[in-house]
Amino acid sequence: MIPKILLSFDVEEFDMPLEYGRAISPDEQMQVGKAGLDKLMPILRDSTIQTTFFTTANFANHYPDAIQSLAQHHEIASHTFYHSSYATEDLKNSRERLSQITKQEVVGLRMPRMKQVPVADIIQAGYTYDASIHPTYLPGRYNNLHLPTKLYSEDGLFRVPASVSTFCRIPLFWLSFKNFPYSLYLKLALHSLQKEGFLSLYFHPWEFVDIHSYGLPSYTTKGCQSILFDRLNQFIHDLKPHGEFISYHAFVKS
Ligand SMILES: [Zn+2]
Repeated sequence: MIPKILLSFDVEEFDMPLEYGRAISPDEQMQVGKAGLDKLMPILRDSTIQTTFFTTANFANHYPDAIQSLAQHHEIASHTFYHSSYATEDLKNSRERLSQITKQEVVGLRMPRMKQVPVADIIQAGYTYDASIHPTYLPGRYNNLHLPTKLYSEDGLFRVPASVSTFCRIPLFWLSFKNFPYSLYLKLALHSLQKEGFLSLYFHPWEFVDIHSYGLPSYTTKGCQSILFDRLNQFIHDLKPHGEFISYHAFVKS
């Protein structure tokens, strides 16, 4: 079977400065998120790749046309309602609102910051799959070294883990992509793709615009502006011969 490449973007209000004690208004959070999405458009127009956008309903409410347009070719899934706050009813409300905007069924979830919520709540809210599992160890965040690195089912809910390296489970997420030497990252990603049969990666549109002025740690902003965009373009080009870019939903169905 052709290996599957699951490329995803968490489309959201840019609230990370708040984590570091910096003020940023809700409007500005939205504008930075949208500017990042616009920056990515040349990549997203490539008809040979399908990706998944885990989108907050809050963001979609501000830019319904953009989300509707993306939904023509890509999958729109839920990143709950708000990026900075959570209540259980946000699971269902965000799914319904995104379905309304896209006029399509929304079946996937990724929680902001991979927050863990009861599986029963996710099922109750009508989701088929959850992509909030990262089977790695992130000091100060989570230790998921006991969790599977392959697609699995829990009480009837499919769970799609984010990818890690085949050796030592190094996370192959957005921070590794921008901070590792490119050739090393590509090698780790290809190994994981070949061993697991899929690659599940996530980025954020706001990474692709200039966010130097927000006083964030340099490892989170490295390559913002054009360098990261070029790197992602190169990465997609280098991965294409090794697998098929499909949505999370298509992967779960297959
Ligand atoms: Zn997020």
